[in-house]
Amino acid sequence: MMRVICDLICYGKAQAMTTPAPCRSLYVHVPFCRSRCGYCDFYSRVLDPAAVTPLVDALLHELAYYAAERPFCFDTIYVGGGTPTVLPPSELERLLRGLRRYAAPRNELEFTVEANPATVPEGVAAVLAAAGVQRVSIGAQSFNATELRVLERTHQPAQVAETVMTCRRAGIRQVNLDLIFGIPEQTPRSWLQSLQAALALEPEHLSCYGLTYEPGTPLRRRLEAGLVRRVDHDLEAEMYELTLETLPAAGLPQYEISNFARPGSECRHNLRYWHNEPYLGLGPSAAGFIDEVRYKNVADTAAYVQAVNEGRSPWSEQEQLPPERRVRESAMLALRLTAGLERRRFQERYGTDPAELFAAAVERHVKTGLLEADDAGLRLTRAGLLVADTVMADFLSVPTQL
Ligand code: SF4
Repeated sequence: MMRVICDLICYGKAQAMTTPAPCRSLYVHVPFCRSRCGYCDFYSRVLDPAAVTPLVDALLHELAYYAAERPFCFDTIYVGGGTPTVLPPSELERLLRGLRRYAAPRNELEFTVEANPATVPEGVAAVLAAAGVQRVSIGAQSFNATELRVLERTHQPAQVAETVMTCRRAGIRQVNLDLIFGIPEQTPRSWLQSLQAALALEPEHLSCYGLTYEPGTPLRRRLEAGLVRRVDHDLEAEMYELTLETLPAAGLPQYEISNFARPGSECRHNLRYWHNEPYLGLGPSAAGFIDEVRYKNVADTAAYVQAVNEGRSPWSEQEQLPPERRVRESAMLALRLTAGLERRRFQERYGTDPAELFAAAVERHVKTGLLEADDAGLRLTRAGLLVADTVMADFLSVPTQL
């Protein structure tokens, strides 16, 4: 496996337009859940207890292979999935402690683990805290029992509060709650109730996503069979606008299209993605971006474990990013942030002013009121946030001087 990885990394170096930034972020994918939710298209399976130890072994081996080639000192680690907290506590502890070997000291490290309501008993919370996890991201999704059923979530609304309190009692300081709007039959009123119920738990961070009907999911099939009805576009926009009003007023300003945080509690790990910085991804289906190479591991737990055990690369896809793509992607990702595309930062990194480079797209969208441009940078307006995908797509495609 190492030869394949090194070849790709060396090739990446030769092609890079700038010196590759050091990789300081680690993502680990745990592909098990208690049950499958109808809307989910992440790679995960119902927990198979017999598969846990081989998976944890393989994750730690995969990390050791990379680490044999270069010293890592991750200052953000994000363990997602899946639902990492369904692992038996002893295996979860082994995994987290194994990751910590390559991490920055506690006071410099942001260590996040994803969890779902009713999957964090006291013992699991204690394991998280003892391993240095100081941030949990909980999939609340809604505080309305009917909406949770539509999503095929198995928890009850009250279990979100129990999970938050269990984590707090264990000493975990930072809590994110994920919420979904645009659920069939949801109304702006019931969405506002979910937002208020979430705020009552005083989370440091909230992520609010519009529901999508991903191909191949049970929810998509129910939509196509006429068993559920998509929420009207204007109603969904109204829910998003409600979010933009409610959360900042409660002390959680927006910092990304879907993310809101108390000042200082923004997710540093996700900011690395939006700044298009390198990260190592471990585990089945995990993506990574290292030395200008984007890769994705095979989305099959048994195949992943077998590849790592046999010393083969678990990559199923890899792509050397041409410099032009890198620049365009960086611009597009930065526009997701309310801080926008910062001209000085971009110029330092790519040696070119984004306002000039993307002049055609900038002119078009400033005219229509979707984008604002000044000396500091380019950013989406409130109207632009509602059609962000359209504006960002232009930054990927308009002709430039590149
Ligand atoms: S718990 Fe999360 S990862 Fe697991 S199936 Fe549901 S949405 Fe997907």
